[in-house]
Amino acid sequence: MSTDRPATPTAIPHQAVPHQAAPHQDFIRQIVRDDLASGKHAAIHTRFPPEPNGYLHIGHAKAICLSFGIAAEFSGWCNLRLDDTNPGKEDPEFVEGIKDDVRWLGFDWHELRHASDYFEVFYRCALKLIEDGVAYVDDLDAEQMREYRGTLTQGGRNSPYRERGVAENLDLFRRMRAGEFADGSRTLRAKIDMAAGNINMRDPAIYRIRTIAHQNTGDAWPIYPMYDYAHCLSDALEGITHSLCTLEFEDHRPLYDWFVDRVDLPSHPELWQPLLDAGLPTVPAKPRQIEFSRLNLSYCITSKRKLAQLVNENFVDGWDDPRMNTLRGLRRRGFTPAGLRLLIDRVGVSKQNSVIDYAVLEGCIREDLDATAARRMAVLDPLKLVLTNLPEDHEENLAFANHPKDDSFGTRAVPFARELWIEREDFAEVPPKGFHRLKPDGEVRLRGVGIIKCEQIIKDADGNLIELHGTLDPETRHGMPGADRKVKGTIHWVSAKHAIAAEVRLYDRLFNVAAPDSEEDGKSWLDHVNPLAKRVVQAWLEPAAANVDPEQRFQFERLGYFVADRADHRPGSPVFNRTVTLRDAWTKPAGQ
Ligand code: ATP
Ligand code: MG
Repeated sequence: MSTDRPATPTAIPHQAVPHQAAPHQDFIRQIVRDDLASGKHAAIHTRFPPEPNGYLHIGHAKAICLSFGIAAEFSGWCNLRLDDTNPGKEDPEFVEGIKDDVRWLGFDWHELRHASDYFEVFYRCALKLIEDGVAYVDDLDAEQMREYRGTLTQGGRNSPYRERGVAENLDLFRRMRAGEFADGSRTLRAKIDMAAGNINMRDPAIYRIRTIAHQNTGDAWPIYPMYDYAHCLSDALEGITHSLCTLEFEDHRPLYDWFVDRVDLPSHPELWQPLLDAGLPTVPAKPRQIEFSRLNLSYCITSKRKLAQLVNENFVDGWDDPRMNTLRGLRRRGFTPAGLRLLIDRVGVSKQNSVIDYAVLEGCIREDLDATAARRMAVLDPLKLVLTNLPEDHEENLAFANHPKDDSFGTRAVPFARELWIEREDFAEVPPKGFHRLKPDGEVRLRGVGIIKCEQIIKDADGNLIELHGTLDPETRHGMPGADRKVKGTIHWVSAKHAIAAEVRLYDRLFNVAAPDSEEDGKSWLDHVNPLAKRVVQAWLEPAAANVDPEQRFQFERLGYFVADRADHRPGSPVFNRTVTLRDAWTKPAGQ
């Protein structure tokens, strides 16, 4: 690892929720600590390598927090590398989305690279492997190659083209590059061992012919490198010291090391001279791949293909739909970067596969929002309450604390008048046992106002409840002699005259079973899409909740955490999304 790179350590994310005080003790950080202590590396360098074929999802948050987080903790660097070796599925829209999401999560990269920046280097490395006698051009087609490869229990067979001479291989490979051959007609393969127990080592493909335009290099290349070849060499070229990836790459590690060792970039500057010529600082190293277990969450899908299907088949309204567990979706839903980082901290790093309960994620979001979101009052399902002992024109401003536990949030004025909206479910004409809210002739405390009594129920000709009439006991207000008088329930309200109408989108989990992916019940994952995951209501907000910027987050008292929608909210016509309820409604015993 070079020490002569610019000293711009990866930004340490702003931490609204304090991370655990003790330093992380996971096995990857231990390796890093040891490598720094032994002097194996003077500084560490990691990377996050998404393929720009979709938007990032909650699973990627783990890989991001790990690679960027470790670089920051150990004063190293982390690159963002777009692994764009698979043209056709990739799109510049996703490139911009990925950059935006990584920054939103609280991280910044040392350098932004593309695997396609290295296409010329990869090509030169392949020529070197051919010259060294460890790569050959194969004329078998895809199906024949599969046949020759063997199975998990049976070794493979050598291709009849395996013993081609170096000169012939060089000529054929150069002609592949020149675009002389049809797609799929030839492949460059590494010459390793067709009898290897590890199938990845049975002469894996290095290059395939594909005449298709690339989003970064256009029509410059009719051949494209395979992931296993391009990824490890990209790591080596960028001087990556610790290449962190998920467990499914464990079986690929011998191949990763094979390419890194055979190409040996540090000893062959002529191979990467094109990067220096293009102004890309390059100090190759020998990277070490380390695998960790994926983040799996119940009630979530973390396959990009399936997320794309939800969008394309209109189960949701786009990649940023608040029901999606893409980072864009979670952001629009009101989830916070600090809450997501807290989840990743809590989950920890290991090689053990597990599924984290979605409630753990919600708990982290609540924990962050409890500390950071100001309180407001809103009524989602309004019922009129008229306080008949107040004058018709009664109007006053009450001072409410914006946060019950943090005075630095200050106070706001909440208008109060004779006619109020209260939540329909806070009144019961025939109250169930243990109901402590409003009932006929019953009393309840109106938040910040005092005790009211329900005197009269007004119904229409069809017997539908239309409004309640009640009286306020003015002696029970805060600071008055009767303020200590106890009643069991407290409810929230907004002044009908001052309330601002808002569209409120009530979101819930997108799937109604914990493991939508499991096909054990014979159903497709799409059968488990929760039709109630989005409900839209017309609500009333107190004025201080309406005139706010998009993405402002609040706790609407007694209802949950809400965010002003990033796309649709306007101060004059507010639109809020429910981020999460105040309590977990999914793990209650059945029947409640
Ligand atoms: P695919 O390869 O199917 O397109 P992917 O989820 O692997 O999807 P990549 O863009 O290749 O997408 O992922 C970038 C990085 O994020 C990889 O290093 C991968 O290991 C990591 N990653 C992906 N999903 C998870 C997850 N659920 N938990 C932790 N890391 C993940
Ligand atoms: Mg992948």
